[in-house]
Order: sequence, then structure tokens, then C-alpha cells
Amino acid sequence: MMRNIVAGNWKSNKSINDARDWVSVMDKDMESLPIDVKVMIAPPAPYLASLVSLSNSRLLFVSQQVSATQSGAYTGEFTAEMLVSCGVDYALIGHSERRASYGETDEVVCKKVRCSLDAGLGVVLCCGENLDKRDAGEQEQVIKDQLSSALDGVNALEMEDVIIAYEPIWAIGTGRTASAEQAASMHGFIREWLASRFDLNTASATSILYGGSCKPSNANEIFASEDVDGGLIGGASLNPEEFQEIIKAASSL
Ligand code: PEP
Repeated sequence: MMRNIVAGNWKSNKSINDARDWVSVMDKDMESLPIDVKVMIAPPAPYLASLVSLSNSRLLFVSQQVSATQSGAYTGEFTAEMLVSCGVDYALIGHSERRASYGETDEVVCKKVRCSLDAGLGVVLCCGENLDKRDAGEQEQVIKDQLSSALDGVNALEMEDVIIAYEPIWAIGTGRTASAEQAASMHGFIREWLASRFDLNTASATSILYGGSCKPSNANEIFASEDVDGGLIGGASLNPEEFQEIIKAASSL
């Protein structure tokens, strides 16, 4: 069982040429990176098909977005089936930026999870509390509510294709990370919740990533906890060297 994963999220950054250069560097270096860490990248969607064709390593591709519907009259949307047909491996669902600015409610998140799993597309499911909820000590309730709702109707077998990313909103892009203790505690809580919602095997097989200003200088400390299986990396994924340092930190070898 390999739980260790480092996934990059470029958000709306990079030209296609810069994106190709990044993939070429990663392809070249992948053999020297720890084999026990799965490496994923989420480029802007218009680049996905061409980057998938270009890449010749074990790098996995993630879409930052996926439709909550099947194909049809939905201008601007693209479905999970379309992503699978382009060779994309996962979709990022429930990212706080999409929840906050693009109407990705718990209900929409749940539909996107269902469409993805039905199409054979893996899911990187994001959850995270805002600073008010953290200050009020209500962070576990927020995460429990988000996960229960997102995974409504999902069975234990389907969880093989689901990765969870815990991303406290107050730590995303702010330079402020959760402390190793805060991350360890929430990841432990999530794993316990998975055990009660599914079963112990599912809980111990599911990868739970930390996201929020993770970078080479803090990755070792954050990943040291038993229940932190790696990271979802925004800013520090743009540069291949920094990203590779984080991949090394996620190895158990
Ligand atoms: C993210 O967007 O998922 C993220 C963790 O961003 P950053 O690493 O830049 O905080």
C-alpha cells in the first residue's frame, strides 16, 4: 500500500510553453525521485491533453475542475468522461477557491465526486475550515460536515480512487501554515472519521494530504506525522526544484 503523494496545483498560472518545460524537467528527473511517492500535477485545463501526450514518466495528471453533469447543453463545462478520454487521472474537487468564488457548494461537490467516480476518474477531495471556525474550535465539525456530504453515496470500494486533501483556508496562499500538531490532529480525526464512515481498511488505505503554504522549508516537519501522507502544493509547485524537494520530504524510504 502506497499512501505517499505530492500533488501540485498551478491554479491559473503558466503559459503552455512554461508548462511544457516544467513537465520535461519533471520527466527527466522522475527516476531519481523516491519511488514510494506518487507525483501529480494539476495544470490549467486547456493544457491537459497536450501535457499528457508529452509526458513519458510516472507523473499523474489532475484537472483543477470537472463538470457536475454528464455531457449535454452546458456551455463551458467539461465532463469527467472527457477528462478520462484525454488521459487525465484525477480531478480536484471542493478546493476552497472554487467553493468561495465559483458556487462549489457541498451539493455540487457531491455531484462532481459521483460523476468522476462513475467515469473512472480519481478524485482529490479538498476540505478545510476558515479562520473563524478554527478560532471557535469548530474545525472538526466543519470537516466532518464537508466530508459526509461530499462522500454521500460513495462506497468503500470507490474510496480506492479518492484522495483527501485537508487545506485550512487560513493557510492557503497566506504563507501561514498549520503547525505540525494542528495538521497531525486533524489528519488523525479524518482517518478516524473514515474508519467509522467506511471501515478500518479503507481508513488506513486512504491518502490524506495536507495543503496550505507547504514548501521545502516546512514539508519535513508537516509530513513527519503518521497520518499526513503528503501534500497538495500551490505556490511551491510552480518551480520544479522546490516541488522536488517536497516530493523527497514525503518519502518514507
Ligand atoms: C492550494 O491551492 O491547494 C494550496 C495549498 O496553495 P498554497 O500551497 O499556495 O498555499
